[in-house]
Amino acid sequence: MQLNYDYAVLINTAAIRLQISTDDIIALEIIKRETNTKNIEDIYFDMVLAVTVADEDKLLETRTRKHIYKQEESTYTVASNKLPSRPVIVGFGAAGIFAALILAEAGTRPIVLERGQNVDNRRERVQRFWNTGELDIQTNVQFGEGGAGTFSDGKLKTGQKDARKLKILDEFVRAGAPDEIKYLTKPHIGTDRLRVVVKNLREKIISLGGEIVFGAKANNVLYKDSKITGVRYDKDGSEFEIETDNVVLAIGHSARDTFNNLFDSGIKMEQKPFAVGVRIEHPQELINRIKYGRFASHPALGAADYRMVVHLKNSRGVYTFCMCPGGAVAAAASEENAITTNGMSEFMRDGRNANTALLVTVDKKDFANDSPLAGIDYQRKIEAAAFIAGGGGYKAPVQRLEDFLAKRQSASFGDVLPTYKPGIVFAEVDSYLPDYVADSLRRAITEMSDWMPGFYYPDAILTGAETRSTSPVKIIRGENLEAYGINGLYPCGEGAGYAGGIISAAVDGILCAERILNI
Ligand SMILES: Cc1cc2nc3c(=O)[nH]c(=O)nc-3n(C[C@H](O)[C@H](O)[C@H](O)COP(=O)(O)OP(=O)(O)OC[C@H]3O[C@@H](n4cnc5c(N)ncnc54)[C@H](O)[C@@H]3O)c2cc1C
Repeated sequence: MQLNYDYAVLINTAAIRLQISTDDIIALEIIKRETNTKNIEDIYFDMVLAVTVADEDKLLETRTRKHIYKQEESTYTVASNKLPSRPVIVGFGAAGIFAALILAEAGTRPIVLERGQNVDNRRERVQRFWNTGELDIQTNVQFGEGGAGTFSDGKLKTGQKDARKLKILDEFVRAGAPDEIKYLTKPHIGTDRLRVVVKNLREKIISLGGEIVFGAKANNVLYKDSKITGVRYDKDGSEFEIETDNVVLAIGHSARDTFNNLFDSGIKMEQKPFAVGVRIEHPQELINRIKYGRFASHPALGAADYRMVVHLKNSRGVYTFCMCPGGAVAAAASEENAITTNGMSEFMRDGRNANTALLVTVDKKDFANDSPLAGIDYQRKIEAAAFIAGGGGYKAPVQRLEDFLAKRQSASFGDVLPTYKPGIVFAEVDSYLPDYVADSLRRAITEMSDWMPGFYYPDAILTGAETRSTSPVKIIRGENLEAYGINGLYPCGEGAGYAGGIISAAVDGILCAERILNI
């Protein structure tokens, strides 16, 4: 399909394909749209269209051509269900939200404990941190309503869509996400629209009988005779307990204090490999030119993205992660005196810079010991080194790409200015990342520049450290999704090690709710 299509063009194309008149088409819907850039001189959209006609079966009988088939309806419904007690969900990120939604739809009146504040208060506190460097360790880019994805690009990795994913997309759209997320192959919501979506999902859960308690930090789960009995939590300086038979533990990958408490009370965990590195910023206009050539400023295409993976001879994998077109590098700390970066964009993706994490895989051979929590210590060490390199006040160390490759400190910027707030300082990447990580990055950048000529852009800016791409811990669970040896405890989502991103965390939330409901 040409880039400049409209509804009439779609109707015409569908009519020609089906060999019917345009008047026979009652309704038309885009099911999938993918930008085809195989030939940069001829960029177009690959599309799947769903067409409603009066007698579909008859039409299909006479149209035996490839690529024409009956679209199966897929709806996700939950029957109402009774549980012995109200289920408790710890954490209101993607996993917790969708676990709560399904449990609320089933009429079980779930209670959600969320350590951070609601999204409006959270936004204020995050803005204050970005403006002044004043960090709130309970409400920040990692913690608070909506979870780690709220201040993000809201990229949705949908892949093959099953009933659960369709349910998630549908709920997002009802809550205020753009309709296009249902059909684009690489959709995004943007942080500005995500904040609205999260609020509306909260209201829906409440309207179905759910309850969300903000500022409630679960300290530990309570269990007896291999069976969950409740949750202990702090709120406003006092400690409370809720009795329950089912707990969904959807605490995300940064709840280090909670991981510690859970580990101390005997919850089985293991180390999980992850990746660390830096954020790299290029001019978005350069990325558009590299990916779209003469179509670079075509309004139908938006800001271009990219993704690269390199396997080095030293057996390390280096890859780009969470690319944010037209976005900003986000200060994403949740602990004092530590710097960690991430990326975010508004829905329009109209910022000057493109950024992506550039990450090197690390695993048990790099960690100090065999403790399941050793990966957290590894992250902390890098985050503290980055804080020191930045000179304090959550200023991040930055370096021009050319200087990083030449192993020298930068003295001035070229035409890429960093977007990280609350501030930056020139310092070498080598001062805060282990040498094998920095060296792997150098080798990979050279290879990536062969794959994507222009990626080596001397003025590109490296900001660090990027340490929280995923969870360094896995909470062990069985096939029934319950924690090893504890009935009624459901480790869930990214933090527990069963998801990587908003969609997969939301799917895992649904799966845990289904197990509780015995679906
Ligand atoms: C800046 C940024 C940008 C990102 N961009 C994208 C993107 O574009 N696309 C994408 O797919 N993914 C993105 N991610 C990753 C994505 O956010 C996560 O994969 C996803 O949020 C995981 O969902 P979750 O529910 O498992 O955990 P989280 O979203 O981390 O939610 C966990 C929740 O639990 C709460 N919590 C923690 N401990 C406790 C406790 N003890 N008691 C009560 N509550 C607790 C936290 O406050 C938090 O709200 C991004 C992450 C960040 C930080």
